[in-house]
Amino acid sequence: MTKDSERVQSIISEKRVKLHVFEPSQRKIWTVVGLGEEHWMDPDDSYCSCPGFYFGKLNGKTTCYHLESTCLARKDNQVETIVFSDDEFSDFLSGLISDL
Ligand SMILES: [Zn+2]
Repeated sequence: MTKDSERVQSIISEKRVKLHVFEPSQRKIWTVVGLGEEHWMDPDDSYCSCPGFYFGKLNGKTTCYHLESTCLARKDNQVETIVFSDDEFSDFLSGLISDL
């Protein structure tokens, strides 16, 4: 197994793919919790906030292990869903961005 697929496996088995759903708007934010960091992504738009994705993109790669984990977790139903209210949306976003 490659290093990336090992990482994908452990992210999924430890349920570190999180889907944050905001009610009632149904806005969704996906994150993957890593070691001391949390990256957010858009699996439908193939975007991830991690440096690996950014630098990979410069080299013509369109994915990273966070995105791979998210797609796989979604397929296998291993996603941890957390429901928030829309009032919490902006606080949630600024918390996420200040962590980066
Ligand atoms: Zn990533």
